Amino acid sequence: MDKGFVYLVGAGPGRADLITVRGAEVLKKADCIIYDKLANPALLRFARADAEIIHVPKRTGGASFTQEEINRLLLEKATGGRTVVRLKGGDPCIFGRAAEELAVFIEEGIGFEIVPGITAGIAVAAYAGIILTDREYSSQVVFVTGREAEGKRDSNIDWHLLAKFSGTIVFYMGVGNLSLISKRLIENGMAADTPAAVVADATFPTQKVVKAALGDISQKCGQAKIEPPAIVIIGTAADSNAQLNWFMKKPLFGKNIVITRDIVGNVDFAAKVISRCGNPLTFATIKIKPLTETNEFLRTLAKITEYDWIIFTSGNGVTIFFEALQNLGKDARVFGSTKIAAIGGKTAAKLSEFGVKADFVPTVFTSKELGRQLIAYTNLRSKKVLLLRSQLASNELVELLTGAGAVVQDVAVYTAVEQKSECAWLVEEISKGRIDWLTFASPSSVNGFFEQIPSDLLNSGNVKVASIGPVTSERLKTLGVRIDVTAEDHTLDGLVDAIEQTYNGI
Ligand code: SAH
Repeated sequence: MDKGFVYLVGAGPGRADLITVRGAEVLKKADCIIYDKLANPALLRFARADAEIIHVPKRTGGASFTQEEINRLLLEKATGGRTVVRLKGGDPCIFGRAAEELAVFIEEGIGFEIVPGITAGIAVAAYAGIILTDREYSSQVVFVTGREAEGKRDSNIDWHLLAKFSGTIVFYMGVGNLSLISKRLIENGMAADTPAAVVADATFPTQKVVKAALGDISQKCGQAKIEPPAIVIIGTAADSNAQLNWFMKKPLFGKNIVITRDIVGNVDFAAKVISRCGNPLTFATIKIKPLTETNEFLRTLAKITEYDWIIFTSGNGVTIFFEALQNLGKDARVFGSTKIAAIGGKTAAKLSEFGVKADFVPTVFTSKELGRQLIAYTNLRSKKVLLLRSQLASNELVELLTGAGAVVQDVAVYTAVEQKSECAWLVEEISKGRIDWLTFASPSSVNGFFEQIPSDLLNSGNVKVASIGPVTSERLKTLGVRIDVTAEDHTLDGLVDAIEQTYNGI
C-alpha cells in the first residue's frame, strides 16, 4: 500500500495561539490528527471538517494508550498517501519520546517532518517572568526530567553535578517528586536556601506560581495544592523580580467569563477572552439559521442592482449572504454600483474578506447611529435602501430611514433560534460563586440564556453581567437582570474592554 507522510508537530506549551505558524499550517491539511493529553484540544479548530481526530492520552483514568499502541496507530494511519499530524505538547523532541516514534517511520520508510514547538520550560519562564539566563547570574541552563528521581539505579541524572551547577536548572515532570529532587540536590551539596520556583498550568488562566527556598519548596507546593503539569526552576533565576510577572497581572487573568453566543460565535469570542488572559467558559444559547432559501431573498437578489444602498448590520449577515451567493454560483459583482453600508468595523472587515469595501461605516456601532449618520452623510430621499439582516432586528433603523424619505426593504437573511445546552455545570458554578462574568452580545442570547438558567440565581454569588449595547441591555432589564457594565463600543472587543476597565478602576 502507498505510504503516507507524518508531521511530528509541537503544539506549544498550552495556550492554543502559542503553536507555530508552520504547526497550524500542517494541521489544516491533515487527513488524520493524533494528539496527546498536553496538546490543547482548541488547536483542533484548524482541522479540516473531514479529518479523523484521535486522542491518545497516556496514563489517564479512562482509556489510555501505551507507546507501542501509539506507534501501531501511527503506522496504520500513515498509509494510502494520507497526511498524519502527530501533535504533542510543547516541543516534540523535549521529553516527548520523539526518537521512538521517528524510529518507526524510518523503519517503515515513511516520510516525516519535525515541526518544533515552544517547550514548557521556555514558556513557563516567559509567562512567570523568570529570566532563565542572564549574564549577571546564569550563563547556562539545563533541562532535566524529574521522573528519574525515584532512585532508578541506572539513572542518567548526575545529581552530584547538578548540585554544583552554577546556572538555571529546569525540571520537567518534577512536582510529584519534588521533595526527593530537593533532597537529592541538598544531599549532594546544593545550598538549601537556593531559590526555587514552581509554575503549574503555565500559559493558562489557571496558572499558579510558588516561590520558595529549595529546602521549603516541596512543602509550599503541597500547601498551594500544586498539581501537574508543572515545571520546577532552581537557581538564582527563580528569584525573579515579581514585576516581571506580566501575565498574572493582566486585569482579566484567572477571571471566569461565560460567553453566550452561538457555537461558532463563541469560538471567536473565546479567542478574544484568552488573548486578554481570561478564562472563557462557553455556553451556547442560540443557533444561527440562514433564511437565504426563501422566495423573498431570491427575488430580492434577482433585482439587487436596483437598490441605491445595501446595509449590513452584522458579520453573520455578511457571511450568510455571501454563502448564499456562492451556492448560487455568484459573487460580489451582483452589487454592481450599489453603495454598501456596514454597521461597524467588524462587519466592514467581514465584507472586505469577500472583496467588498464598505462605502459607509458610522463612528458609533448601533443601528440608530448607523441610521442617523447615514442620513447626515447622504440624501436618502426616494432612494431605495435594502437591509440584509437578522429577522429579530428592531424596527428602529427602518423607521429612521423611512423618516428621511428612503424606500426601505427589510429582508431577513438569518434568524437566531434557541439552542439548548447542558446547563447543570453552569448552574453549579454560578451558585458556588466561581463565575466572575456573564456576557451577552445580543437580545436573542439573553432570551436563550434565561430560558435555561433561572435569573434569580444571579442574586447569589459574585457573578456580574456585561452587555454589548443598549438593545441587549434593554432585553436584560425587561427580565429584571442587573447590568454591571454596558460596552461603550458595541463590539465583542468593546465588551471585553468594558469588563477589563472595571478592574483598572477607569
Ligand atoms: N514535550 C513537552 C514536555 C512533555 S513532558 C514540552 O516540550 O513541553 C510533560 C511535562 O512538561 C509536564 O510534566 C510538565 O513538567 C511540563 N509541562 C507541559 N505543559 C506545561 C504547562 N502548561 N505548565 C507547566 N508545565 C508544563
